[in-house]
Amino acid sequence: MTKYIFVTGGVTSSLGKGIISASLAKLLQSRGYRVTIQKFDPYINIDPGTLNPYEHGECYVTEDGAETDLDLGHYERFLNTPTSKANNITTGRIYQNVINKEREGAFLGKTVQVVPHITDEIKRNFRILGENGEYDIVITELGGTVGDIESLPYIEAVRQFRWEIGSNNSLVIHLTLVPFLAAAGELKTKPTQHSVKMLLEYGIQPDVLVCRTEHHLTNDIRKKIAQFCNVNINAVIESIDAPSIYDVPLLMLKEQLDKTVLTKLKLPHKNEPSLENWKDFLGRLKNPTADVRIALVGKYVELPDAYKSITEAFIHAGAKQECKVRVEYIPSEQLTPENAVEKLKGVHGVLVAPGFGERGFEGKIQAIRHVRENNIPFFGICLGMQCAVVEFGRHVLGLEEANSTEMNPETPHPVIGMMEDQKNITLKGGTMRLGAYPCDIKKGTKAAAIYGKNHISERHRHRYEFNNDYLKQYEAAGLTPSGINPDNGLVEIVELKNHPFFVGSQFHPELKSTVANPHPLFINFVAASLAYARKK
Ligand code: GLN
Repeated sequence: MTKYIFVTGGVTSSLGKGIISASLAKLLQSRGYRVTIQKFDPYINIDPGTLNPYEHGECYVTEDGAETDLDLGHYERFLNTPTSKANNITTGRIYQNVINKEREGAFLGKTVQVVPHITDEIKRNFRILGENGEYDIVITELGGTVGDIESLPYIEAVRQFRWEIGSNNSLVIHLTLVPFLAAAGELKTKPTQHSVKMLLEYGIQPDVLVCRTEHHLTNDIRKKIAQFCNVNINAVIESIDAPSIYDVPLLMLKEQLDKTVLTKLKLPHKNEPSLENWKDFLGRLKNPTADVRIALVGKYVELPDAYKSITEAFIHAGAKQECKVRVEYIPSEQLTPENAVEKLKGVHGVLVAPGFGERGFEGKIQAIRHVRENNIPFFGICLGMQCAVVEFGRHVLGLEEANSTEMNPETPHPVIGMMEDQKNITLKGGTMRLGAYPCDIKKGTKAAAIYGKNHISERHRHRYEFNNDYLKQYEAAGLTPSGINPDNGLVEIVELKNHPFFVGSQFHPELKSTVANPHPLFINFVAASLAYARKK
């Protein structure tokens, strides 16, 4: 039978529930258990696809085309296994399902209520991933903080669910903060006590407390927390601030979180976790022998979470070659023809980020012109590739007003246009070209050398595409379409001849980079930037 672990949060948000969940999953996976993680978000949007990145950071896209919370990216990067639509549920989706059933008449004249109908639908979703025997353990991370109005139905659903499946088959881990009061020189346990008390009011006794702290928990503190919160002393787990999120699995191993969890779930401890590859990755991450500066040009750079998967992909690719990648965030809005040289001075590579809308678009064009003309390594992702096509059209092909119809619907040279099947779509949510699509790589190109194969699959999230009416003109002038969708001829990769590294991808390679499998495009871009740095 599948076992269920719930991870709740108390005291404050941003304590790192996602990383704790992913770290625990990693430890259990490395002991031989089949584990997946799902995230329940208490907001009313159906999915984060319509959210501005400033709200909750990047929108992560799964293989099956779901637009999801960025924590799913952490799950995939840690576990190296794909997630799906079923791994991210929002209050919006729960209510939508219940309301659809109500319209179908499925409730047979009953009054539809939060309890039992919403809580039943939440519980149904808790179970979905555990149903077909694919997983031994399903970890469910509940977004928000205990005590939030929005979280209440989830907490109640957990209470009922535990009662239904029994205490040996489920477990609640509560993540709290143990703050350090400098004036008193002490760690304080009261916020944790209060937060557990609140959970108790809702009928849930947590089994394990993970305590986020800036200082080590002494035995006395652990004992106090255990005693006042009714847990075993070995169920008080210290989660000390770590230099990198990738240290957390090892910190949790040291705290024996995995053992405590397995014991409580009455599961055999099996083998000790084998984390050799993980440790090897950390070793290379922490002992770089080289250094590169890469500019990330984007419109949401004030909030690095907006580009989470890209920055993590740089970490994986850098570690692979023992190279520290220093990502420098450049707001595209501030780049002009006059200042681009100055602003990009000293960087060894430029990544132009994905994005939507006009703001900062022209700045991205300036950045690309600069790197193209000066042989500085360039990597453009999604909108970044589209910008490269526009830039090349304007400054190499002489199509002065070349543009994407997203930015100027009236352009005389729509080198990037809306995809045919997008033209009649009016709804915004979940209607882009989303998820995994196949791509054929042209022989003899840089893309072929990078991937080392001719057929790939990558994840997408866009409405616009390269306009194939201009294909011949571009190719003749040296911008090669090196990746093509075999089913519809869409250009998925472009690359420049006679340039050390100038590659644009319509898809998002960052979504598939994991600790175990750094993405080849990122590896090669970092390598090209390193070569450029050495030459300088
Ligand atoms: N706005 C562009 C499009 O929809 C690019 C999207 C993106 O960068 N993800 O095609």
